[in-house]
Amino acid sequence: MKVVILGSSAAALSAAEEFRRHDEQSDVTLISPEEGLPYSKVLLPYVLRGKIPYQGLTIRESDYFTRLNLRYVQGEAARLEEAEHRLILKDGTVCSYDKLLIATGARASTPNIPGIQDSRVCYMRTKEDLDHMMPLLHPGARVAVIGSGFVALQAAWAARFRGLPVTVLGHRIMPSAMDEAGAEVVAQAIRDSGVELLAPVHTKSIEPGPDGGLRICLEEGLWVDADVILVGAGVKPNTEFLAGSGILVEKGIPVNGKMQTSHPDVYAAGDVAAGPTVFGEEHVLHSLWPTAVEMGRVAGGQMAGVDLPYDGSLNMNVTQMFHVTVASVGKFRQQDVDECVVLPEELGYGRLCVFGKDGVLCGATLIGGSEGVSFLGKLRPLIARHQPMTRHPQELGDYVNKQVFARNWEEGQPG
Ligand SMILES: Cc1cc2nc3c(=O)[nH]c(=O)nc-3n(C[C@H](O)[C@H](O)[C@H](O)COP(=O)(O)OP(=O)(O)OC[C@H]3O[C@@H](n4cnc5c(N)ncnc54)[C@H](O)[C@@H]3O)c2cc1C
Repeated sequence: MKVVILGSSAAALSAAEEFRRHDEQSDVTLISPEEGLPYSKVLLPYVLRGKIPYQGLTIRESDYFTRLNLRYVQGEAARLEEAEHRLILKDGTVCSYDKLLIATGARASTPNIPGIQDSRVCYMRTKEDLDHMMPLLHPGARVAVIGSGFVALQAAWAARFRGLPVTVLGHRIMPSAMDEAGAEVVAQAIRDSGVELLAPVHTKSIEPGPDGGLRICLEEGLWVDADVILVGAGVKPNTEFLAGSGILVEKGIPVNGKMQTSHPDVYAAGDVAAGPTVFGEEHVLHSLWPTAVEMGRVAGGQMAGVDLPYDGSLNMNVTQMFHVTVASVGKFRQQDVDECVVLPEELGYGRLCVFGKDGVLCGATLIGGSEGVSFLGKLRPLIARHQPMTRHPQELGDYVNKQVFARNWEEGQPG
């Protein structure tokens, strides 16, 4: 069997590894435009902050492809002829396949702002973005960040950590990673770190500044001068090469619980794919590393003929920024929940809120430290199993620990 995997990041590697666990013989080719060994995008802000060296981005050893008997082709998919099971690369190479996995991820969105096409406007999605940005962040450079989502704030924190003056121009703080009240607490942490936060504001244009820099003009009548602009405005799945292929594409590529697209021999996983969630939603884009790994694992198994169970993804995100740990799991936005229990700070978790809907646990957010992250880790399987919500904070803490204890005990019993 000929298997082609597009991409060489979280979803692609996880799929290739799972496939090889079940099938050592088939011809497996990974195709990606990237040069060099696979790396982690999650670690880009850590390199920017100087927390890890540049080489620390690499996530597989130099003998990875030979050891797993995988062929690596540096190239980019340009067109898919599904009926013929053929893929055409940008350089004209034609690849045939029996099973194809699309793990082409996503790229940084470019907002439609006049003047944004300037070499001093940077993004943080790839290693090349980091290479481009690093020399611009020299001592004294004034940094403006457009966006206040998860990645934009990581970029802002990294620039501030390097001692640079930073202004963040945003809307709602971390809409996909923090509840509304928690966002206010993060906003305060941002300000306490010496970052100027202007939110909500709307960028109108980017123009030449009076001192050779750039000037960001806001619809609110204000302006901000900067030497470097970092943009974090969300991501766009890489699906353009599928135009005319017959594969259904919506916001991403909708997939079922086997990671199959609208064509059964074509699978999709990771940031490019919209899959089922533990909450019963059919097609959701998570854009998270663990979700990409899990979807890739299922796709790899399925392509090898192994029907791995998949209960749907459950988003979980943990990061350190502005001297706090910010984490969330499941659902926590006002429109998705009808109950919130705030755990007392004396428990030592920091600000930890647990959310419920219709009497069932559905999510939690944390602004605190590592103890709270471990609590969230215990809560995660309970959310996935739709456990009932309990109202008293202490009871909730006991309940979580009891549930975990009971599960461990069950798992520990001889068969
Ligand atoms: C700065 C930053 C910080 C992040 N932090 C976190 C975090 O803390 N926690 C978390 O869970 N997630 C985080 N993420 C998100 C996480 O990195 C992504 O969810 C994850 O990388 C998705 O993996 P993927 O394999 O689906 O796609 P990607 O990592 O986007 O990789 C896509 C692959 O496809 C290749 N490709 C693209 N187009 C083509 C084509 N036409 N033909 C062939 N190959 C192609 C690319 O070169 C690449 O190899 C972060 C992302 C960024 C940018």
